[in-house]
Amino acid sequence: MNKTRRNFIGGRWKASSSRGTYISRNPADTSDILGRFPESSPSDIDLAVRAARGALPDWKLVPPPAKGLLLMRAAALLEREKESLARLMTREMGKVLKEARGDVQEAIDMAHYTAGEGRRLFGKTSTSELRHKFVMSVRRAVGVCGLITPWNFPVAIPSWKSFPALLCGNTVILKPSEDSPACAQRFVEILEEAGFPAGTVNLVFGGAQTGAALVRHPDIDLISFTGSSEAGRDAAAHCGAALKRCSLEMGGKNAQIVMDDADFELALEGALWGAFGTTGQRCTATSRLLVHQKIHDRFLQELVRRARRLKVAPGLRAGAEMGPLVNAQQLERVTRYVQIGRSEGARLVCGGRRPSASALRKGFFFEPTVFSDVHPSMRIMQEEIFGPVVCVMKVRSFEHAVTVLNGTRYGLSSSIYTRDVNRAMEAVRDLEAGITYVNGPTIGAEVHMPFGGIKQTGNGHREAGEAGLDIFSEWKSVYIDFSGRLQKAQIDTGS
Ligand code: NAD
Repeated sequence: MNKTRRNFIGGRWKASSSRGTYISRNPADTSDILGRFPESSPSDIDLAVRAARGALPDWKLVPPPAKGLLLMRAAALLEREKESLARLMTREMGKVLKEARGDVQEAIDMAHYTAGEGRRLFGKTSTSELRHKFVMSVRRAVGVCGLITPWNFPVAIPSWKSFPALLCGNTVILKPSEDSPACAQRFVEILEEAGFPAGTVNLVFGGAQTGAALVRHPDIDLISFTGSSEAGRDAAAHCGAALKRCSLEMGGKNAQIVMDDADFELALEGALWGAFGTTGQRCTATSRLLVHQKIHDRFLQELVRRARRLKVAPGLRAGAEMGPLVNAQQLERVTRYVQIGRSEGARLVCGGRRPSASALRKGFFFEPTVFSDVHPSMRIMQEEIFGPVVCVMKVRSFEHAVTVLNGTRYGLSSSIYTRDVNRAMEAVRDLEAGITYVNGPTIGAEVHMPFGGIKQTGNGHREAGEAGLDIFSEWKSVYIDFSGRLQKAQIDTGS
């Protein structure tokens, strides 16, 4: 077994002070080990926070266009490493290779987009209510940012957080998921090679305890968290008590509506991609299909026929369409939800178990699974399963579909397939979600658009795009009086 990997703190790869370690394994073949990583301790976190704090004053003064040039270099290096990074990703967390390439591409796109922001980062100028007075607003850095990320987009999500944070003048400490540490290491090595100054980018490995220590450190200014609702709630509670800035991106229970006038084949293709892409382990995955009663039976039949034909295989295998679940807990969780669905009276139409092929027994594979005859109040229709399980429900009308779609505590992504432009516009208006797709599946976000959810999916922030800058900067309003006398707002007005 390799030596325990090192954290990256203050520009150096440094051994953790903790003795605890964990192993990163290939979920398609658990005998394939990627490495041993430290369960970093609060004192490792403390070192990282000091390094990030120390680098902050100088980094704030680096002009944003110069920061943008570093991001351009990072983009070029990510491009150079795209194939090797994608292969590492597939090996470490299981998604099929073409999706892993997409994950790296998203980070490249994010680097390009954010680099461009270096020459914008626009504030506003406005008019003053007083003569000889100038007003404007500018963005300023928040400070030291703790970035806590999940494993399902192991390069894209760290890029969504770190690139805008750095561009806005913050320094960062990345705490990646314990299920994708090797990807995080390569990502940070690339940022090191791109030339980000020592202390601006720090990496601390570890699991929930390390994440909790980062959240609780008194000298962190901001926590940006993506992951489960349970962990997000815990982070928010501690940030709230300490008045730290906190942005949360959490779970979803996304639905696709298929109206009777939809392009049937297109809707079917979208449903298969939305439900079984990334083995259903996307926060935006389609886990409910609300199908108009006129086409429901035919749609279900075709969906099941096609789901059964999906090639479940290790993600590096040519032609693989669906890889394994990420770990044993996920396998256990998905299996449990299948039992819950059956006990609630839903009809298991296909899948619901591990594939029987012996080659797939080496990993955490699960069959594409479809439930029908579901009711909106069932747990499998309300709770995030985060696996290749989709519930198909018959709906009477557009209004019925909207009511069911909106009837969960989550509000991340949504979709409608229809050829009726009026219906499509009503859906855009009425669906309670941060994202609505028309004639596209619930997955497929682009980096220049705001990303995030309403209700219990988030806490009001949006990542990516220009909106993402609002997480990592604070507005300062500037008033410049060139009248040479005291002018009183709200009092000396009107002349
Ligand atoms: P998770 O909550 O188990 O872990 C996410 C990260 O938080 C990991 O780095 C983990 O070590 C850390 N963590 C866990 N407990 C913590 C605590 N108490 N304090 C601080 N850090 C803690 O989630 P996961 O299994 O890695 O990811 C799956 C979840 O992420 C799903 O619920 C999915 O919907 C969600 N997700 C959401 C988005 C989004 O943008 N809305 C994107 C991807 C994933």
